[in-house]
Amino acid sequence: MNVILLGAPGAGKGTQAKELAARRGLVQLSTGDMLRGAVKAGTEIGKKAKAIMDRGDLVPDEVVVGIISERIDQPDCANGVILDGFPRTLEQASALDRVLTEKRKKLDAVIELKVDDSKLIERIVGRFTCAKCGEGYHDRFKRPQVRGVCDVCESTEFTRRPDDNAETVTRRLMVYYRETSPLIGYYYCKGNLKSVDGMAEIPDVLASLEAALDARK
Ligand code: AMP
Repeated sequence: MNVILLGAPGAGKGTQAKELAARRGLVQLSTGDMLRGAVKAGTEIGKKAKAIMDRGDLVPDEVVVGIISERIDQPDCANGVILDGFPRTLEQASALDRVLTEKRKKLDAVIELKVDDSKLIERIVGRFTCAKCGEGYHDRFKRPQVRGVCDVCESTEFTRRPDDNAETVTRRLMVYYRETSPLIGYYYCKGNLKSVDGMAEIPDVLASLEAALDARK
């Protein structure tokens, strides 16, 4: 099963994709995570992407399409993937259609996570992750049980994304509305769009996502 999670930055795509992938035996493919990995590793792509990402703009379509097209060919993706943060432009969406057709795969569902703008900003500015295992936290909504210690792996090192600041978030939201929100119409017209209330608590959103996947025609 191949699924796209659509939604603005901070809508909860990453959190939900991770859990959903684990439950359904799928692989989470986050272009944001892959690009951050490239930046950290100092690859050519990473070097070019860093400034763009720090500004909150989009990395060129051909770069992310290339990354996804290669990754989706790996054997671990044979059972299906959850795309998180891709596609983000109409060009990427039609490239994805082409890539899937070429590889004799199909898109089974596109689910939009709906969250109010005020909540998005509140969620993004305040989030941090464990530097070791990647568990996500938030200054107000999900603090580690023991201050400064990761609940999952007990590491005491945490990181914050350089683009998770109020100024860049505003830019990322603008880019989302201009470039990515037209995809809602694109997939609606194709007949495979579903919407889920992303304002609810994490387990409730997950339950709605599972119900949406199970209710597929
Ligand atoms: P994310 O982790 O999904 O919020 O992505 C972080 C940043 O990576 C974005 O603000 C973009 O600069 C870049 N990025 C991630 N996915 C894409 C994509 N599909 N197309 C273009 N840029 C992307």
